[in-house]
Amino acid sequence: MATRYDAGVDHLAALLAGEPSYRVRQAWDGLYRRLLDPADMTDLPLALRQELDERLPLALTPAVESVSDGGDTVKWLWNLDDGASVETVLMHAPGRSTVCVSSQAGCAMGCGFCATGQAGFGRNLATGEIVEQVVRAARRARPRRLSNVVFMGMGEPLANYDRVWAAVRRLHDDLGLSARHLTISTVGIIPGIERLAGEELPVNLAVSLHAANDDLRNELVPINRRYPLEALVAACRRYLAATGRRLSFEWALIDATNDRPSDAAELAALARPLRAHVNLIPLNPTPGYATPGTPPAGVRAFRDRLRDLGVNVTVRQNRGTAIDAACGQLRATQSAPPQRARTVRVSPTRTESTSTSPAPTTPPGHTTERTNLPSTTAPGPTTGSPPDTARLASR
Ligand code: SF4
Repeated sequence: MATRYDAGVDHLAALLAGEPSYRVRQAWDGLYRRLLDPADMTDLPLALRQELDERLPLALTPAVESVSDGGDTVKWLWNLDDGASVETVLMHAPGRSTVCVSSQAGCAMGCGFCATGQAGFGRNLATGEIVEQVVRAARRARPRRLSNVVFMGMGEPLANYDRVWAAVRRLHDDLGLSARHLTISTVGIIPGIERLAGEELPVNLAVSLHAANDDLRNELVPINRRYPLEALVAACRRYLAATGRRLSFEWALIDATNDRPSDAAELAALARPLRAHVNLIPLNPTPGYATPGTPPAGVRAFRDRLRDLGVNVTVRQNRGTAIDAACGQLRATQSAPPQRARTVRVSPTRTESTSTSPAPTTPPGHTTERTNLPSTTAPGPTTGSPPDTARLASR
């Protein structure tokens, strides 16, 4: 059975066969413009609402909802009907509200510093599962308007190209989001970048670089062995030529690993000719990676070095750390709500609000209980604005 946001207009029309044709438009507007559940579409007859509710089930069952940053960051853990779990993060900043969505349950790319990579691949998400993450975040964002969507959550979006692109079309065509406000990140899947370059909608492209020489990148981002830097940079160049959009490079700063002056020089040499914006993301701790992120002073020094080398650079504000929604940390914290986070555990029979300031037994951002939820960090938007994404997987 198609889930609510998998169904296209044709599917809806088939469900509403025998009804006046304007009912299809009413129901579609209800789902995408007014973001309503069928039960709340009071312009439809009650029987029709009930039928749509039954025949178009939601795909995402909320398991945990966590709120931090004074309400400006909300993370959901969703259960899917086959037992998989994914996460979504909504972030508010002055003038914009951004949702960071997952495109896969798990990830096959194997970046060692990323919690999702550490947990391995589950499956691709369906288009409806991706779109529904956005719709539910948009509802939650009200009265603010959801302005940006970044595909920087769990998974490699370009490894699930067809479904991700179908979701992009739905977000643009039906939810009314501008392509300028849609960002797809990739760890460097060149065939996917080539396909993106040929699409009608010029979305933003964020490449999770993390290293600017092949030796180090082979180590940090294993897919680099298949798509090495020279070919990746050439693909980025073609993308820019085809779309005219800006490119961003995401760089998770790892202590004494990719934060040396030589790393800055190599990064600048790649970024400058492409006019790429660099987003620096101090690596957040994950259970399976021992090396810490670069300390704050080192982050500032790396940033300043890049600036001195003529690179447009931003340090990603790490938001959502208290709920493990920050870069590289999206791992469910189902057993021990971290400090200062408000966590609501959701079950079909009970909704329970936990304390707002539990004393953690582990450092903020960690839990003592491993869950089956992998996590990722994602790069930031390529708009040049200060980054406002909690990247789910440091790509
Ligand atoms: S960083 Fe991104 S591409 Fe790499 S394993 Fe994590 S989710 Fe996958």
